[in-house]
Amino acid sequence: MKQFCCGDVIPGCRHVFEACSEEELLERVSDHGREEHDIGELTSDLEAAIRSHIVDA
Ligand SMILES: [Zn+2]
Repeated sequence: MKQFCCGDVIPGCRHVFEACSEEELLERVSDHGREEHDIGELTSDLEAAIRSHIVDA
């Protein structure tokens, strides 16, 4: 499993994501960003930041 803590990129958010693959995880994070953080689309910078914080769980 892959795991990502939203707070690693967006300080103060306590949402934690888990998914089987990095791609699936990014999809969930993208939905969450849109709904909770008003992030329309993941920029390449943001995606890189997220990927750098994904860990194996
Ligand atoms: Zn969040």
